[in-house]
Amino acid sequence: MTRSLDIVVLGGGVAGLATALALGRDGHRVTVVERDGLELGEPLAALEWERHGIPHFHQPHAFTPRGRKELLTTFPDVYEALLAAGAWDAHNVTEDADLGVRMHRLGYRVQVLDSVTEEEANSDFVNWVQQRSRWHKGYLQTWLVHMRHPLQLWRDLGTKGFVTFNLFLGGTPALALVNPVLWVMTIWWFVSKPGWILALFPAPLYYAAVICFVFGNLVCIYLNVVTARLGGHPELVGIAILTPFYWLIMSIAAVKAVWQLASKPQFWEKTVHGLHAHARPAGQRAPK
Ligand SMILES: Cc1cc2nc3c(=O)[nH]c(=O)nc-3n(C[C@H](O)[C@H](O)[C@H](O)COP(=O)(O)OP(=O)(O)OC[C@H]3O[C@@H](n4cnc5c(N)ncnc54)[C@H](O)[C@@H]3O)c2cc1C
Repeated sequence: MTRSLDIVVLGGGVAGLATALALGRDGHRVTVVERDGLELGEPLAALEWERHGIPHFHQPHAFTPRGRKELLTTFPDVYEALLAAGAWDAHNVTEDADLGVRMHRLGYRVQVLDSVTEEEANSDFVNWVQQRSRWHKGYLQTWLVHMRHPLQLWRDLGTKGFVTFNLFLGGTPALALVNPVLWVMTIWWFVSKPGWILALFPAPLYYAAVICFVFGNLVCIYLNVVTARLGGHPELVGIAILTPFYWLIMSIAAVKAVWQLASKPQFWEKTVHGLHAHARPAGQRAPK
């Protein structure tokens, strides 16, 4: 290290503070001069600060990817401290799911608006698998993050919320992963009736599984058929009957999600939008 210097940094914005931190950790004596008078204290006290020098201080801010990378590599302890003080880790690729749970845990009410988005359905197979793999990956991330402390989560969400959280965010990808295994076992059973499948399904479990298999599938298909009819799309009724195949491609997306969770957890599978618009002849506008 070079000799220790006395350094003055003008301005306690993000640039000034980062400079002061780096210099201080390098062994220099640093003084930060900030014209806004600030009372330092608990993190939430910052909400009360009047920062005339940074008029946009009270706007919500997010670190750019480069900023986060620099923090993680250069000041990982600061990154952790920011998270502990209530910052949100934007690694999650279904940030809406994660934020919804966080808001609820903080005591806010999170609800779905009763509206029709008119967002186009994703009609391309590869595009669809990419999108669903991102959703599955994000659900798994959300589940893993919040289940780090299951008892605390239970306390925060209550029993109903805790069960719903696990069924929805953990259960959706888990079911999609298990689904092809169960299909293979079902076909295997009808083909050769192997003893190990019999051993796996004692009578009470077997009958419960058959009820789920028959009525569960029927109810899901029926709901999709009814939705297509009531939604004014009778041409989709035939497609709705193919619902079990939809679950099959859901499983492909779930396998991809698990692989990506391990290999590229932060990778954001982009979804191409406007496929219907592109498929329409030039000059013809999308229906309202
Ligand atoms: C509305 C809005 C939203 C934004 N959102 C984001 C975002 O989400 N993510 C992101 O990365 N960036 C965002 N930015 C940009 C980001 O806020 C700026 O890049 C950042 O604040 C610049 O930091 P800085 O330290 O260089 O300067 P500043 O933040 O401007 O800090 C300068 C500091 O110096 C002090 N000062 C000035 N003159 C003197 C003086 N003579 N003596 C002593 N102190 C002095 C001021 O009081 C202030 O505290 C946003 C900007 C705006 C306007």
